[in-house]
Amino acid sequence: MSDCLFCKIVAGQIPSRCLYEDDELIAFHDIHPHAPVHFLVVPKQHISTMSDVDARHAALLGKMMVLGAKLAGEQGCAVRTDEAGKTVGGFKLLFNTGPDGGQEVYHLHLHVIGGPRPWRSGN
Ligand code: AMP
Ligand code: ZN
Repeated sequence: MSDCLFCKIVAGQIPSRCLYEDDELIAFHDIHPHAPVHFLVVPKQHISTMSDVDARHAALLGKMMVLGAKLAGEQGCAVRTDEAGKTVGGFKLLFNTGPDGGQEVYHLHLHVIGGPRPWRSGN
């Protein structure tokens, strides 16, 4: 998709702060973070929204979520027990979908949002 922002990032035509890349996925920091950690996991294949996926995409979607959680851990957001025995850490995994879902970029992406609160409103 020549006019798609995230296809241009995938193609290297627009720079990003890349966290991870393989043959199917890229992950990069969100340009307007809502929290101390906010990055996007994006399939290289152009898929517009979660309304366009079907069973053939199940493995790709699973890979996106597994990668998102792994990278969240590497960014310091893993759920863990602190020295007082309290459960701390954690993150959100979010697919905004369509106008009512608040989607602005119509190339499928998984938001990974975490880090110490408070975060910006809306989350
Ligand atoms: P959504 O509203 O779910 O479509 O989210 C799109 C996200 O893409 C927003 O959180 C934007 O801040 C983010 N974004 C837009 N342009 C860029 C860019 N060039 N690099 C990184 N993130 C971007
Ligand atoms: Zn695209």
